[in-house]
Amino acid sequence: MSPVFASAQEVVNTLRPRDPVLCVRPGVLEQNARRMIAAFPGDVLYAVKCNAGQPVLDALYAGGVRHFDTATIAEVRQVSDRYADADCHFMHPVKSRDAIAEAYFVHGVRSFVVDHPDELEKILDVTEGAADMTVSVRLEIPNRNAMMSLHGKFGATPAEAATLLNGVAASGNRTGLTFHVGSQCVDTAAFSHAIDLCGTVIRQAGVTLDVLDVGGGFPGYYTGEEPEFAAFVAAIVSGCKRIGLPDTCRLQCEPGRALVADAVSVIARVELRRGNKLYINDGTYGSLAELKYLGNCFPMQVVRPQGENPAMGAPAGFDLFGPTCDTVDTMPGPFWLSDDVREGDWIEIGRLGAYSSALSTRFNGCASAAWVNVSDSVVLTSTRVASLDELRRRAA
Ligand SMILES: *Cc1c(COP(=O)(O)O)cnc(C)c1O
Repeated sequence: MSPVFASAQEVVNTLRPRDPVLCVRPGVLEQNARRMIAAFPGDVLYAVKCNAGQPVLDALYAGGVRHFDTATIAEVRQVSDRYADADCHFMHPVKSRDAIAEAYFVHGVRSFVVDHPDELEKILDVTEGAADMTVSVRLEIPNRNAMMSLHGKFGATPAEAATLLNGVAASGNRTGLTFHVGSQCVDTAAFSHAIDLCGTVIRQAGVTLDVLDVGGGFPGYYTGEEPEFAAFVAAIVSGCKRIGLPDTCRLQCEPGRALVADAVSVIARVELRRGNKLYINDGTYGSLAELKYLGNCFPMQVVRPQGENPAMGAPAGFDLFGPTCDTVDTMPGPFWLSDDVREGDWIEIGRLGAYSSALSTRFNGCASAAWVNVSDSVVLTSTRVASLDELRRRAA
C-alpha cells in the first residue's frame, strides 16, 4: 500500500500530483463498519461492487466486516483469497455454471440468489444436489424514492417468488428472500413496503423463512438531509414484527454506498478555466461518474500547495468538464468553489467512496487514479451542495 499522508493538503504539498489521486481514510471506513454492525440486528454484508479497492476492503475488514456481497467470481476470489474467515454471498441472480462450481467447491460459498426457476435448477445441478446452502429469492419491488433506481433488471414477481421459495424448500436448502430498494434511497418507507411484500410472498408460499436479506440502498450523507441508518433499522425491525417473522429468521443487509461514501475524496487538477467552466483531469469515465449521475451534492474545495496564496475568493458555481473528448464527460453544476480558482490548482472532491473508482475506465488514454492513505478523519462538508429536494427533482 501507498504512503500515509496526514491530509489531502499534504498530498498536494508532497506529490503535486499530475494524475488524479484517491485519498482513502481507513479510520473513517473502520468506524462506519463498526457503527453499522452495532446498529443492525443481523449480518452486515459489504457490497463489494461499490468500491473494491484493496485499501477499502482491508479497512472494512479491520472494522469487523466478515460478510461480503459478491456478484462475480472475481469478487469472490478477491475476498476469499485475502480474508480466510470471511463469508462470500453470491448475490447476483444470474451466474455461469463455472462461477457457481468454483464458488461452491473451491471457495466454500454457501449463499446464493435466484430469481428464476432455471437458475435454481442450474445451482442444484452444478452443486450435485447440495442441501447445505441458503438460496435467497430476489423479489422485484417498485422504486420509491431511490435516487438511482435498480428497477427492471432483476427480481421475481410475488407469485413467481412464492413458487421459487417452495422449490428451495423442496431441495432441502435454507430459504431466503431478498430485494433491493434502489441506491441512495432516502425514504425508510421503501423498506417497510418491501418487507410487507415479503410477508405476502411468505404467506403464499407457506414456508418458514430462514433468511431475510433487505439488500442495500442506504444513503450516503451528501446533502445532510438524508435519514440516519438507525431510522432505516427501525423501519426494518418493525416491518419484520408486522409480518410475523419468527426469531429464527436471520436478518441480513447489503450496504455498499452507506459504508464507504464519506471515506474517500478525489484530488484532481484544473487544466483550463473558461469563465465558470473548469476543465479538470478526472471525469465521468474516471472516478467522477456520480457527479454527473447523482448530481451536484459533492462538497469540494481548492487545494494549493503550502507556500502559495490560499484560495480566498467568494464561492462561485462551476460546471466541470472531464479529460476525454466525449461530451458525455461533462458534469453540470453548480459545483461551488472559490472564485479565484485557476489553471494549475488542485481541487479536492469529497464523499466519493461509492461508485467512483469502481466505474473508472482507461478511455481516451486517461490514467487511473492512484490510491493514497490519508490519516485525518475530516470529511469535507464546508461548501454549498444541492438540497435533497433539488436532487429529487433531478432524479425524477
Ligand atoms: C449494488 C448492490 C448493493 C449495494 O447497493 P448500495 O446502494 O450501494 O447500498 C447491494 N445488493 C445488491 C444485490 C446490489 O446489486
